[in-house]
Amino acid sequence: VTHYQNNLKMKLDMFPEVCRQAGLKATKQRREIYREVISTLDHPDAEKIWKGVRKRCPRISLDTVYRTLYALETIGLISRVGIKTERFRFDGNTTQHHHFVCTSCGLIRDIVSPELDATTPPAAVEQYGEVTSVQTELKGVCHDCLARKKT
Ligand SMILES: [Zn+2]
Ligand SMILES: [Zn+2]
Repeated sequence: VTHYQNNLKMKLDMFPEVCRQAGLKATKQRREIYREVISTLDHPDAEKIWKGVRKRCPRISLDTVYRTLYALETIGLISRVGIKTERFRFDGNTTQHHHFVCTSCGLIRDIVSPELDATTPPAAVEQYGEVTSVQTELKGVCHDCLARKKT
């Protein structure tokens, strides 16, 4: 059992309690949708999550998946990743991290970096509000896309 799987089990065990405290019913469908988001490093979009969840909940609709994702986002279990695609992507990692984003295929991977965490926000941000955390998006081209371009 890897550390990652342990983390997954822990998160799923906590799920009913987190929902209860937020006043959200911890239904099987919601749990399966949450499981789908947290069991991948992919930052999947709603349709990909839907495809995965349908293996376990065959009658679930895409609309239910969307509504559940927004509900889970509202209670802080997942977050939305704002990259420039027409589809939102979802993130089950709620610890402090940054993202590498491939501008060619849309791959998103988590980057843990104490150096980036310690970045001092520029003074210009003060005109809009107070900074509570810094999340950096590092854009580039992933290894797969680089390899494809060379061939
Ligand atoms: Zn790529
Ligand atoms: Zn992430």
